[in-house]
Amino acid sequence: MERRNFIQGAAGGMLLAAAGNLQSQTAHDKTIGIQVGAVSFIDEGTEKVLDELQQDGSVNTLFVATFTYGRGIAGRQVPGQPLPDHGKQEYDTETFHGGSYTAVHPQYYKNTVLKDFRAPEFGNYDVLESVLPAARKRGMKTICWYEDVFRGDVPNIEKLQEKDLYGRNTTTLCFNNPDYRNWLMAIAEDWSRSYEIDGIMWGSERQGAFSNALGASHGGSDPGKVTCFCSFCQTKAKQRGINVERARTGFLELEKFVRAGRAKQRPIDGYYVALWRLMLKYPELLSWEMLWTDSLRETYAAIYHRVKEVSPAIGVGWHIWHNNSFNPIYRAEQDLAELSHYSDFLKIVIYHNCGGERMATYINNVGSTIYGDVPAQDLLDFHYRVLDYREKSLAEISRTGLSADYVYREAKRAFDGLSGTKTKLWPGIDIDIPTAANHSKCTPDGTKEAVLAAFRAGSHGVILSRKYSEMMLADLKGAGAALKQLGLA
Ligand SMILES: [Zn+2]
Repeated sequence: MERRNFIQGAAGGMLLAAAGNLQSQTAHDKTIGIQVGAVSFIDEGTEKVLDELQQDGSVNTLFVATFTYGRGIAGRQVPGQPLPDHGKQEYDTETFHGGSYTAVHPQYYKNTVLKDFRAPEFGNYDVLESVLPAARKRGMKTICWYEDVFRGDVPNIEKLQEKDLYGRNTTTLCFNNPDYRNWLMAIAEDWSRSYEIDGIMWGSERQGAFSNALGASHGGSDPGKVTCFCSFCQTKAKQRGINVERARTGFLELEKFVRAGRAKQRPIDGYYVALWRLMLKYPELLSWEMLWTDSLRETYAAIYHRVKEVSPAIGVGWHIWHNNSFNPIYRAEQDLAELSHYSDFLKIVIYHNCGGERMATYINNVGSTIYGDVPAQDLLDFHYRVLDYREKSLAEISRTGLSADYVYREAKRAFDGLSGTKTKLWPGIDIDIPTAANHSKCTPDGTKEAVLAAFRAGSHGVILSRKYSEMMLADLKGAGAALKQLGLA
């Protein structure tokens, strides 16, 4: 064969291979997921909801909120936010309670004192029993979706709660408490054995004591209530060679630093230097942060292996908190190569619209602690540099949201971080996640661009978030339009 022909032949072969790749990347391979809670199926009817999800969003995978005490993924629209154009046109302020929206099979909960957590609002309604067969008939997959959110009146909950710096119980539960870790594994095993599910996703929107003390997130924080100092965590710390008393002293000093910063009492050498002085004097501050992070990773691994013992075919993965987009310390803790060892998939939250408001809040929070000397716009520019974003000014982002380019950059970074691993990347896409009244709202075009950006970055799917009961159908159709354009509908 002449050289010229050979090259043409080789190029043709590559083209054929590329076409083959495209062929295999049909809707069957890409996960088009949506998060949906029990209340939507009850209010609108199972078949009607599934019709809508398939027609408007080309959805092929349900992420059913099977357990939570939180309003973020269960219940109707958050009170105070406009009701969407479907579902019951009223708020569930009085009736929302939370818990498990599936039957609880007691044989799986022998190794935990947390046994009484069935959501009471729909009687004996079991969302998996009701929805899963209907979804399967349509070729749709069902993934159980649960999160690390509890209420204070669950029987025995006080035995699982974290202890703060002063030894007080908190509303959050401790991963190193056997009653909690066993429960997390038990409910995953219950769903895996009791139903023919396709997967499990769990999410924990929390971080360790150091980042929390600094208020380094888009939420609030109290530096005197950082966690966890329970007996289980103290034992684990000692095993790791961490001096518990020095850690506690360090966090008491850090609390003073944060309270002074919030009161605008500038340290003599400035905020950044004063914090470094504390970190150098008490490296236990970082050891305690990593103790918490490692405990979360061990929890992921424990759930993963428990489910795989039941069936290797059941996919297991994690919802990664939006703080990954704002706080570089938290981002550093999201080591994707490490997580890949016990993750079939990752839902990296990349919410573009509410991301603007949340980034602004984060900048405001760290602007009174670690970066107290840096003017807010400079601080945002610094974060854009180190996080690799090209976004609008601080004065604008709450009213514009972040762009599709942010979605692309975050998805691409995650895709590259996972290269060479088995873990699939399914970014979380923002569809009408509540924002303040005068802040930016999702649009059909914005949603479409976000979905296109996620796939342009190589993602293996998307998860439309947070919940169907707060989404406008036009914005869901925006996602659908992107999927049609990509040939994935
Ligand atoms: Zn603990």
